[in-house]
Amino acid sequence: MHMAGISTRSLALPLVVTLTCGSAALAQGPGPAVTTLLSDPRLQQARAFIKADHERFVRELVTLTEIPAPPFKEERRARAYLEMLKEHGLSDVEMDQEGNVMGVRKGTGGAPMLAVLAHLDTVFPEGTDVKVKREGTRLMAPGVGDDTRALALMLSVIRAMNAAKFTTAGDVLFVGNVGEEGEGDLRGVKFLLQRGKYKDRIKRFLAIDGGDQGGITRGGVGSKRYRVTYKGPGGHSYGAFGLVNPAYAMATAIARFSDLQVPSSPKTTFNVGVVNGGTSVNSIPSEVSMDVDMRSESCAELKKVDDAFLAIVKGSVADENRARSTREGSVQADPKVIGERPCGETSTEAPILKTTAAVVQAFGLKPTFSVSSTDSNIPMSLGIPALTIGRGGPGGRSHSPDEWTDVEAGGVAKSVEVVLGIILAVAGER
Ligand SMILES: [Zn+2]
Repeated sequence: MHMAGISTRSLALPLVVTLTCGSAALAQGPGPAVTTLLSDPRLQQARAFIKADHERFVRELVTLTEIPAPPFKEERRARAYLEMLKEHGLSDVEMDQEGNVMGVRKGTGGAPMLAVLAHLDTVFPEGTDVKVKREGTRLMAPGVGDDTRALALMLSVIRAMNAAKFTTAGDVLFVGNVGEEGEGDLRGVKFLLQRGKYKDRIKRFLAIDGGDQGGITRGGVGSKRYRVTYKGPGGHSYGAFGLVNPAYAMATAIARFSDLQVPSSPKTTFNVGVVNGGTSVNSIPSEVSMDVDMRSESCAELKKVDDAFLAIVKGSVADENRARSTREGSVQADPKVIGERPCGETSTEAPILKTTAAVVQAFGLKPTFSVSSTDSNIPMSLGIPALTIGRGGPGGRSHSPDEWTDVEAGGVAKSVEVVLGIILAVAGER
């Protein structure tokens, strides 16, 4: 975790901090153009507005949290968010074919489009109790933090931009996207950047999907997931004894896979998470399957594990067909990809990273950099400068039924200001 060339000393003046201007910086590298955001009178206006806007933020956060949004079933929440976006003076507010909802805040020109995202989906299945409970400033409900807080935050940021009449050079596309969690497999962002109408226009990308406001995700952990189905002729456990058994082949593969050596740095992992199959204790199974997950911070290491795994599956089939009789048929394995998150990273020298870190620091926070698996994986893998930034907190227990987030007014205001500052700096504030 290093500071990407930003010296703490050069940013020591708390109120007149100069920021590298996004548009010039991203076009030509860090240039002489600077803006003094923290001394801009509009920021004071925005601050006053954000304070007064607090109750609405909490209200919208509660409303959105209480609309369930399981993977692949985000539509109700998406429709509600679409209606909310419509109240914010954006143009082209719409839902795309994948279910993402979005609107454009027009820039004055001279810089490319910035996409800002928060994800609509939660990890929680249908039927989960999503009623928000409140204790003081603490809100408790599944999904209230990850990533619903960012959805509400994004609306507050747009309102603050409007209230203080901030303009940006580049258009800003605000998106509530589907499919970030688990089997959603980043489908929302994949559609947005590979097939959506703005795919050729989005040249910078910010996902709001972390807790701590100083935390910046600059690298995407790649992952690949398989469901491997082994099939064989099956038969009676006693009468057909001696025939090939797909369970033995799969067990061989699991045992060999478990012996694979992977580096701890760059962190590389693998797991057999689900095994299924068979019909009865006295039958040789005709079908068994396993779900496998592999991840790495490094694209090259991920490929190594992937290649090794496929070779192990192949070998396990060949060995079983050699070890027992194939007179009724042989064992076969079919590895099907059920998830793929490409890896990628944003360089520590990238203007978007330097600009974002400078803003975070200007607000008195310490930027820290990490590698994770988020919606930013997709733009990173496509070479689009991308970061995942924090939605603020404190909060915790995300992906668990007792997830919570704290909405103390001062803390919320600060997170709105920081995200506002980052968007203005990256989109090229005017
Ligand atoms: Zn999330």
